[in-house]
Amino acid sequence: MYEVRFYQGDYNDRQAKANEDQCIAYVEHHFNSSSNVEAGYSMVVTGANASQTSINWGRWYAGAVSRGLDVSLGGDRGVVVGGYNGLGDYNLRYTDMPAVLLEPLFASNPWHATRIRDENSQAQLAGILSESIQRFFPQGGVVGFSVGHKYKESNPNDRGASVYGGGTEADYAEIVLNKAKILLESVSEVQTKREVRVLQGTDLLWAHTIDADTSVTWDPVLGVLQLGSISG
Ligand SMILES: [Zn+2]
Repeated sequence: MYEVRFYQGDYNDRQAKANEDQCIAYVEHHFNSSSNVEAGYSMVVTGANASQTSINWGRWYAGAVSRGLDVSLGGDRGVVVGGYNGLGDYNLRYTDMPAVLLEPLFASNPWHATRIRDENSQAQLAGILSESIQRFFPQGGVVGFSVGHKYKESNPNDRGASVYGGGTEADYAEIVLNKAKILLESVSEVQTKREVRVLQGTDLLWAHTIDADTSVTWDPVLGVLQLGSISG
């Protein structure tokens, strides 16, 4: 259903190649960084000329990271259109398809950095990305991936920010994208029915299809997940 292609070279060349290949979606992966080590939130940048689909997709992804990895949500409900002072806009503005630049965690924040370097959290980020693409592009097709900073002809040694505790932004972004590629390319059909799932880490313990109109409530004190109202 999905084929993932990694694009390298300068950012405008990556986008031109993705347009040529008629990608259905384009993702550039970064990790954020700040001189304030306490700064830490999930956020997505879109181009200033982004479609509403890019913005909605970015909000869905940033929100899922915020809930799943228990970090705050940055930007306007998770999205900064046009990037901070234009930073990030150039990375996406020439794409013909919906495109997002991911900044799910902060490399400079010690607690976030632990997650960035942790294999289970990398798998979780890859899972959220893969699922966001299935939700927003259920028809399948070629998906373009771009590792932020790395493989630019203009600056071949750029690896982005240093990750607190060791490693670089670009190398960890590449690890997550590689995991997401494996997940996406193994999708044989997109889930079109509404499903409730129980996960342990990223392992699926239980899944159940429910009606689109069923209300779902979780009572953390009783430990009961109620599907539909008790009377109904
Ligand atoms: Zn970056």
